[in-house]
Amino acid sequence: MAVPTKYIFVTGGVTSSLGKGIISASLAKLLQARGYQVTIQKLDPYINVDPGTLNPYEHGECYVTEDGAETDLDLGHYERFTGMPTSQANNVTTGRIYQSVINKERRGDYLGKTVQIIPHITDEIKRRIKLLGSRHKYDFVITEIGGTVGDMESLPYIESVRQLKWEMGDNNTLVIHLTLVPYLSASGELKTKPTQHSVKVLLENGIQPNVLVLRTERELSMDLRRKVALFCNVDAEAVIQSIDAPTIYEVPILMQKEKLDVIVLKKLGMNYEGQPDLAPWKNFLKRMQQPKYSVHIGLVGKYVELRDAYMSITESLKHAGAANNCHVNLTLIHSENIDESNYRDRLRGLEGILVAPGFGDRGIDGKILAAQYARENDVPFFGICLGLQCAVVEFARHKLGLAKAHSTEMIPRTPDPVIDLMEDQKGITEKGGTMRLGSYPCVLKESTKSYKAYGCEEISERHRHRYEFNDHYLKDFEKAGMIAAGINPDNGLVEIMEIPSHKWFVGVQFHPEYQSNVLHPHPLFVDFIKASLSRDPGKTTQVKRTNAN
Ligand code: GLN
Repeated sequence: MAVPTKYIFVTGGVTSSLGKGIISASLAKLLQARGYQVTIQKLDPYINVDPGTLNPYEHGECYVTEDGAETDLDLGHYERFTGMPTSQANNVTTGRIYQSVINKERRGDYLGKTVQIIPHITDEIKRRIKLLGSRHKYDFVITEIGGTVGDMESLPYIESVRQLKWEMGDNNTLVIHLTLVPYLSASGELKTKPTQHSVKVLLENGIQPNVLVLRTERELSMDLRRKVALFCNVDAEAVIQSIDAPTIYEVPILMQKEKLDVIVLKKLGMNYEGQPDLAPWKNFLKRMQQPKYSVHIGLVGKYVELRDAYMSITESLKHAGAANNCHVNLTLIHSENIDESNYRDRLRGLEGILVAPGFGDRGIDGKILAAQYARENDVPFFGICLGLQCAVVEFARHKLGLAKAHSTEMIPRTPDPVIDLMEDQKGITEKGGTMRLGSYPCVLKESTKSYKAYGCEEISERHRHRYEFNDHYLKDFEKAGMIAAGINPDNGLVEIMEIPSHKWFVGVQFHPEYQSNVLHPHPLFVDFIKASLSRDPGKTTQVKRTNAN
């Protein structure tokens, strides 16, 4: 009989932002590099049905899967580390759990019963966890529980983990608890008390963690680890450190050194002989950490105060940098700070300009000016979603003489709606999950920059938008020198616009950043960095490390 799927739960204590997502992704990478099939799931304890309706300032980027789910940004880490696509089933929120339970109640599925957190909500949580395992595709399902143990919101999740441990037994389930060991500089000591308290909270909820991963700024001695092991009832070898790393991509290597994979496999009765094959990963790290060249890229957006808002884009740039043996020196530029009086000064010196996705008209003029500057000065330009739309508006105004051209998202009554609401979006008023979402095919025109970058004719990319290029204007654009380089073969929507006479000017309606991963950097990002770099091919600028990570 086949070995049943093993379930690994990752919880966090003491504080949020300890990097549960990165630890989960690193463990998945190590298991995958040993030949196992792994998937990672995130359970988010908030009431929104998905993060699609959350402001990026609140929750960072919204990551979109192939099947069109709007999900937590940790899913981006999972895909970038493992190279495996995730789906709606990989991200579940409290809102979604309650929605299905309430729908069932209305249908009469529980007729006669009082619907309660236990067992109805916990049963639904367990069903969603086991769903991935029931596909018989995975040796391991890693489930990351969002939030911090002890939060009121997390309780039903913790209770579900307790029940699953009881139902499936210690051979098939494992709990990894991540905590913080702070360093008090006044006394010169590392403190374990917060960890002890956090484990106590788990124990109060009926869960004995099997592995403790201690986040720390300094090396943890064996004595300290033994002390934690003793007070928390955990094997000494299963208390490991996760020390601050210069880049998240080093964490799998650090976790391997701490033998996280061996500990997990041993405890779950799986083969732990040999070593994971991390050669390609190490290769990437080497290129990323010892680059020969450096290139200065400007990312123009309106959420730049919060780096997480552009997580997939900044990570894709790192992948593409490594592929080009080059350090990407990234400057985040607030589009609200760019205007007619200063845009040349603000953008001068950049070797490539990327205009970010976004919604609404705040900061839109700065984005349009950035596109204009790139076009007029032959600076490589990469426009993503709203970034493409800004480039189209700019081109219409200055090359087609349509001074008032705009997107109807910004000016609904513009006389020249070069970007307009998609036909199937008209009449939709609900906001959650109603955009054009997920993967759609696109056919590339031969001899375009995109065609050359991808090296093939048919591609598939993920989307998240309501507006589109208005092809009523296409002939005029093409006559004036901006062409459609990619078209959706099913409905004719323009997906890519390019200026062939420009060094590298590519705008895409989709989000290539969702498909870049460590071992397969995205071809458009790679080509964009290559074009930006080759402005001065002999250059070996002193590599600055400031913005790399
Ligand atoms: N706001 C634009 C639209 O809905 C662009 C969206 C985006 O950049 N993701 O079409």
